[in-house]
Amino acid sequence: MVARIFHEEDVDTSILSGKRIAVIGFGNQGSSHALNLRDGGMDVVVGNIDDEYAKRANEQGFSVRPIRDAARYADIICMLIPDEVQPRVYKQSVENELSPGKALMFASGFNVHFGFIKPPRFVDVVMEAPRMIGVGVRELFLKGLGCATLVAVHHDYTGNARKIALAIAKAIGATRLGAFESTFEEEAILDLFSEQAFWSAFYELFKYWLEIATASGYDELVAALELYCSGEMVEETKAILETGVFRQMRFHSTTSQYGTITRGKRLVTGEVKRNIRKILREIETGRFAEEWMRTQRTGARAFHEARENLLKHRINMVEDQLADVRRQVSKVL
Ligand code: NDP
Repeated sequence: MVARIFHEEDVDTSILSGKRIAVIGFGNQGSSHALNLRDGGMDVVVGNIDDEYAKRANEQGFSVRPIRDAARYADIICMLIPDEVQPRVYKQSVENELSPGKALMFASGFNVHFGFIKPPRFVDVVMEAPRMIGVGVRELFLKGLGCATLVAVHHDYTGNARKIALAIAKAIGATRLGAFESTFEEEAILDLFSEQAFWSAFYELFKYWLEIATASGYDELVAALELYCSGEMVEETKAILETGVFRQMRFHSTTSQYGTITRGKRLVTGEVKRNIRKILREIETGRFAEEWMRTQRTGARAFHEARENLLKHRINMVEDQLADVRRQVSKVL
């Protein structure tokens, strides 16, 4: 099945006129959404507790209210706080402020799809999920560009849910590039699947490759340069985007192509493939989501320790020694 793609001319934002929008959270996505929506002439308030983020929103000229007040005021409530805190904030400050015909908007399918948030039947529930970090959503918008964004409807009470999702996507600049029709389920699962069965291996390989290279007597600075600090990896990623995963291979030497093609299959073997499928199953059945919520309820000590340990890994010292090179290279790429 091929996703339907919406461009500027396909979407009418008039459905938002006269609607009051509350952006809950002023972090990565919250600040970009609030600013882009306001630049598009929308009536936006920010819902946040009175702290650093609220101060930033105030400085940007927004009316900042406690989350409950913002939710009560708004017709469209955009939940732009971290997924793991949304269920509690929703229960405490949003749920009781919903009334027939309001809309709840999410930038991720996680909580609704896995059932941690169960909105009532009398509201529209939509998703507008940029495939871009928050800063990028704003920067692209200011340059007159947009970011690819997934839009979906979980529940259509008013009959206008899809129009609202698309209008918000257009207002943040997404349709300049393309708003892709998707579902809460598809977004939630593919997002977790790429993080857990692709990027996870990528980061493990960084560690393991450098450990093996240095344990085998090779200089760690030269090894880190070879792997990524020279910037060649960024060039390769850009080539993948511009030319295509396999089509860009022609930019590499024939020796490199031969090694890549023949050795890759030895690494991604039966066990790795089985684990990739197993990870997908864990996500699809909701086992991962339950585990993550349970982990947080019990303090997530092991997770925090593991994160701290990564920052003590030798790779960080090597990167410090190559700081000037990394800075200069990243400026020109
Ligand atoms: P952030 O981590 O940037 O959110 C920070 C905001 O959440 C701040 O306003 C903060 O305010 C508020 N917040 C944090 N903890 C709490 C709490 N316990 N109670 C109330 N408010 C809280 O979130 P993101 O922008 O990264 O993510 C928002 C949504 O966007 C998520 O659904 C995410 O999946 C989705 N998304 C994110 C992307 C990204 O690149 N970051 C990409 C696409 C989608 P304070 O600390 O003052 O309470």
